[in-house]
Amino acid sequence: MNTRFNSDVYGLLPEGIEGIDALAELALDIRWSWNHEADSLWQQLYPSLWEHTHNPWLVLQSVSRESLKEQMEDSSFREKIKALMIAKEEMATSGTWFTDSFHDSPLKTIAYFSMEYMLSEALPIYVGGLGNVAGDQLKSASDLGVPVIAVGLLYQEGYFHQQIDKNGFQQELYPYNDPGQLPVTPLRLPDGKWLRFQISLSGRPLWIRAWQVHVGRCKLYLMDCNDPANLPAHRGITSQIYGGDSELRIQQEIVLGIGGLKLLEALNIHPEVCHLNEGHAAFLVLERAYQFMKANHLSFEEALAVTRAGNVFTTHTAVAAGFDHFSPELMTQYFSGYAANELQVDFENLMALGREDANNDKEYFNMAFLAMRGSGNVNAVSKLHGKVSRQLFSNLYPRWPVDEIPVDSITNGVHTPSWDSEFADELWTKNCGKERWKGNLKTIQKNIDKISGDSLWEMRNDSRNKLVNYVRQRFETQSLVSGLPSEVTKAAKNIFDAHTLTLGFARRFVPYKRPNLLLHDRDRFIRILTNPEFPVQLIIAGKAPPADKSGKDLVHEWNQFIQQNNLYKHVIFLSDYDMQLTEQLVSGVDVWINTPRRPWEACGTSGMKVLVNGGINLSELDGWWAEAYTPEVGWALGDMREHGEDPAWDAAEANNLYDLLEQQVVPEFYSRNEEGIPAKWIEKMRHSMATLTPEFSANRTVREYTEESYLPTAKEYLRRAGNNGLMGKNLVETASLVKQKWKDIHFGKIDVQKSDNDYAVSASIFFDDQLRDKICVQLFANGNDENGPEILKMHFQSISDDKTEHKYCVEIKTDQNFSDYTVRIIPCYDNIKVPLENNLILWQH
Ligand SMILES: *Cc1c(COP(=O)(O)O)cnc(C)c1O
Repeated sequence: MNTRFNSDVYGLLPEGIEGIDALAELALDIRWSWNHEADSLWQQLYPSLWEHTHNPWLVLQSVSRESLKEQMEDSSFREKIKALMIAKEEMATSGTWFTDSFHDSPLKTIAYFSMEYMLSEALPIYVGGLGNVAGDQLKSASDLGVPVIAVGLLYQEGYFHQQIDKNGFQQELYPYNDPGQLPVTPLRLPDGKWLRFQISLSGRPLWIRAWQVHVGRCKLYLMDCNDPANLPAHRGITSQIYGGDSELRIQQEIVLGIGGLKLLEALNIHPEVCHLNEGHAAFLVLERAYQFMKANHLSFEEALAVTRAGNVFTTHTAVAAGFDHFSPELMTQYFSGYAANELQVDFENLMALGREDANNDKEYFNMAFLAMRGSGNVNAVSKLHGKVSRQLFSNLYPRWPVDEIPVDSITNGVHTPSWDSEFADELWTKNCGKERWKGNLKTIQKNIDKISGDSLWEMRNDSRNKLVNYVRQRFETQSLVSGLPSEVTKAAKNIFDAHTLTLGFARRFVPYKRPNLLLHDRDRFIRILTNPEFPVQLIIAGKAPPADKSGKDLVHEWNQFIQQNNLYKHVIFLSDYDMQLTEQLVSGVDVWINTPRRPWEACGTSGMKVLVNGGINLSELDGWWAEAYTPEVGWALGDMREHGEDPAWDAAEANNLYDLLEQQVVPEFYSRNEEGIPAKWIEKMRHSMATLTPEFSANRTVREYTEESYLPTAKEYLRRAGNNGLMGKNLVETASLVKQKWKDIHFGKIDVQKSDNDYAVSASIFFDDQLRDKICVQLFANGNDENGPEILKMHFQSISDDKTEHKYCVEIKTDQNFSDYTVRIIPCYDNIKVPLENNLILWQH
């Protein structure tokens, strides 16, 4: 597609002003959300609007023709635009980490599917962590040159805005997002036609409109249903994110998964890899196979055996109840026609892809199960979450050891340039260079280690000071809007202090995050805050899901606590937690607190955002912190174990949190050397910056996805897709043969010869000889906490004259008791992944 613009694309701009095309191009590439070189232009054009919205596209549309002309006549303004355009051109043509490392790779396109993207407040199509992961990884893909095309939904209302009323209760507001003012443009075909296409929704045609967003080197395609040609009932499908009931959810997921693939087809884009960011997008598994089956005259099952090899599934859920699932009735309504007419399979076969028990026709259809059955590569989002997920999916692989359930882990990271403050950016640029987030990050630790303690402390003080000013301004406005007593509003100018230890706690208010843990012993907490010598201040923020009464009660509890104790000088609840507020908080706080109930925080990312800014984490040993924490980099809550919802444990952890604050955090912050610097604090901060910032960056995450997942996935997909998908036919035939003959396999005698610690093991096994090159015989011993299981391949040795008894043997050396070992048989053919693609297994005992 043509990436250049011409002004008729956006009839909303003033006409006949030379150079406006270049400005529009800059305004429509949301690289401005992390690269701030053009900020001064927008600031100059319309200072107040820029200040409030940070949306260059809106600025450009709103500015008067006169001011625009005036600025454009200023040569320095024009020079600046020219320089930015040259830099943009260079960026588009220069080498990147990906092109330099994998120039002859067959991986050309990864299509990334997500229900939400958190890219900028100017494009509010996200709720929280999941969108954060999608947005930050897309930005890093752009930095690294990884060829990602993202696909998502354009919501007219998105997620709600939170207001706190004067009694401390959350109110929800849904302002309309006018697409004309978002940094998106209609996606046009080369002939200028706006790309609109139809899918069938429960037998009715549904129009989907396509939009595009430029994210540096990458593109994001968004779809919406607010097309006047649609039935009124359908126009609101893409109105609110995660709104409505499960019927709206299935409609949205059909638009994302099936609509998304049709969109790519219409653009003639054929990705080697489709990445499902959470199970929401899993219907694409069906549509991708359908498109392949149509093009190559295969059955659905054969096509799926090919296309699944090209799908990557990332699961983000830590509890079984968190998976999206749909009732058989809803599925019948929306998929019986699709099964019969498109896929040409029995509806029950389609349902079986989303069920644990294919024969239970009451069982709901689980999107994560479909994603597992439809992918060639599956990963969780932290090491601990990998372990949790292997347990969650273990029923799909009966009799397989839990360690071998096919879920790997790739820990999330954040897009560092999006979250660093101007002070941090300056310090990092000076010490690590401008290109620091575009390569392999190998020199970062060394460079951070060289920075003087003074400079680090200065950055911290500047950042805290800025945050304190921000809190004052924001709280003043908020208290006016909430209708708090006028003395509170008046006092807003004097709340907080630029030299006081500043804590931050911002997250979605859902019970598992335990946002009220700090309120467990209120008197003790107030004593910590108001200690006259060593005071502490805390900023709280977070939205409760609109339908979640318990979450809303938690919001109220905090606000009431602050009001009743008149603690405004020390604690502030800032309303409407969003990306912009996050940016302020993570750059200014000294300590970021996180108190989830382990193991419910699959990964967590907000704590990673403070790293680059020198903030230190104090967190439950859950998600990413369970793998990041050492005493050198921060503080930890919990004992690395799960305790459910036990109130006694909550109480113990709350006390533990107060102890940490009283005995470690506060004293370390306030103990200063002769230069007035908290030396021990600085060392912790430096260690956290130097070692954790690179490790928990989306740069590392996206490189890991590319190397461990995208590249091998693309290779295997292309191998299977060749010859019009002939391998799909073979795979289905072999699977069916193996299944048919499997039940007749049985073990004969196992013979063990021992000398010292050497064992010669020989196993006699009976099966139809057709299976010989389709199975593997293995000697297996369970692992322990440190080591995974021991698995040794046994070699085929001989076959009986009647071709039924086969002898396999292996020699091992071990100090273990031989009774720890057992023989097992697994499917093994055509490079398939087991148990992901075939879950059969037979144990000797
Ligand atoms: C980073 C971020 C999140 C994710 O935070 P977690 O605490 O890791 O769940 C959610 N919402 C916003 C606005 C964020 O900036």
